[in-house]
Amino acid sequence: MAFVITSPCMNEKAADCVDVCPVDCIEEGEDQYYIDPSVCIDCGACVPACPVDAIFEEDELSEEDQVFLEKAKKFYGLD
Ligand code: SF4
Repeated sequence: MAFVITSPCMNEKAADCVDVCPVDCIEEGEDQYYIDPSVCIDCGACVPACPVDAIFEEDELSEEDQVFLEKAKKFYGLD
């Protein structure tokens, strides 16, 4: 399991999450930030840091936000 960054990040890219992540697994992509699902330790520190509430636990993703998990996996070359 991992945390996933969703659509509100695409207009914001505030990057506050990058500063609080203890394992440095959040990286800037072209249109949003991404969390590396293979490195994320599920600490949840990034969730309250996000000013636009874009970060969710993988298990809590809505149906339409599943695409953001796939997008993150693709960004990191995972499958
Ligand atoms: Fe980093 Fe913790 Fe957020 Fe995972 S849950 S991306 S480890 S701050």
